[in-house]
Amino acid sequence: MKEALFWNKEKNLVKCNACKRHCVIPEGKAGFCLVRKNLNGKLISLVYGKNLTSEIDPIEKKPLFHFHPTSKVLGVSTFGCNFSCLHCQNYSISKEFDESMINSIKFTSPEKVIESALKNKVQGIAYTYTEPTIFIEYALDIMKLAKENNLFNVFVSNGYMTKEVLKESKKYLDAINVDLKGNENFYKKVCGNIDINEVKENIKWIYKNKIHLELTYLIVPSFNDKKEFFEETINFVLSLSNKIPLHFTAFYPQYKLDYLTSTSPFTVMQAKDLAEKKEVKYVYAGNLKKEENSFCPECKNLLVSRFYFNSEIKGIKKEKCSNCNAKTDFVL
Ligand code: SF4
Repeated sequence: MKEALFWNKEKNLVKCNACKRHCVIPEGKAGFCLVRKNLNGKLISLVYGKNLTSEIDPIEKKPLFHFHPTSKVLGVSTFGCNFSCLHCQNYSISKEFDESMINSIKFTSPEKVIESALKNKVQGIAYTYTEPTIFIEYALDIMKLAKENNLFNVFVSNGYMTKEVLKESKKYLDAINVDLKGNENFYKKVCGNIDINEVKENIKWIYKNKIHLELTYLIVPSFNDKKEFFEETINFVLSLSNKIPLHFTAFYPQYKLDYLTSTSPFTVMQAKDLAEKKEVKYVYAGNLKKEENSFCPECKNLLVSRFYFNSEIKGIKKEKCSNCNAKTDFVL
């Protein structure tokens, strides 16, 4: 257990300022994410060092398609989440756990994580599977060491952290994929009473602060699969830049929405076509077990080929298209 960052005392209670829920937590209790607890008037992280992951993934799996394509990342995750999505794909570690399960996980120091990354010859660390905000103290300590060892850091996030967390993370964070999950109603009803405007504000901040940004919209049948929802998302992306990679991905029945069917490929392609018609430059249709290639927006030269996490750089030289020399929007 480690004293948390990002909190203050409020009379006899503690207030957590890691995410926009700002839980005010009584003595002996944990916040909404279940892993940040008021112990003797101090906020404690229950999951510092309790890494659940030793997976090495292609960075494309996050998905991050335009940031060091073809590289490998070591995953870091812990129990807990500040959302309560009905369709959570990682519910066994985000929601269905208790303190005894956390205690049963052996401690892995930040140094050990870096040692493993170097031994496995990955290029970066991904804070993933559960929301990095809720284990931010552990993440930050690993991120600092990662930088000292020439490894990059990427977050896969729901984007609901506070500005304090974002500002501190920015010192070491290279790239982030943020879920943009649906419209206002979807965030309220499906994700656990979340304010979408806070997520959008953070996405704007990330973009303005030049952290490499990609966005993912998981299409859940009957919940967020209407054309007007896609349009709202696309218009928001366009209000920032048409160069932000946008991933529309297919849902597979899961957790409390296991009674639904999978998203039809037709719907995913419909969302992709709509974004392309509105001139979002890089749109991808994910989870369909189909090719997800990147093409030069100027001459349509194949830049990167991808098929089910196997990717190859085909037509980029020094971050430019090898055919027409146009600047590509890739970090290599
Ligand atoms: S990180 Fe957890 S404890 Fe802190 S405000 Fe968010 S949900 Fe509450």
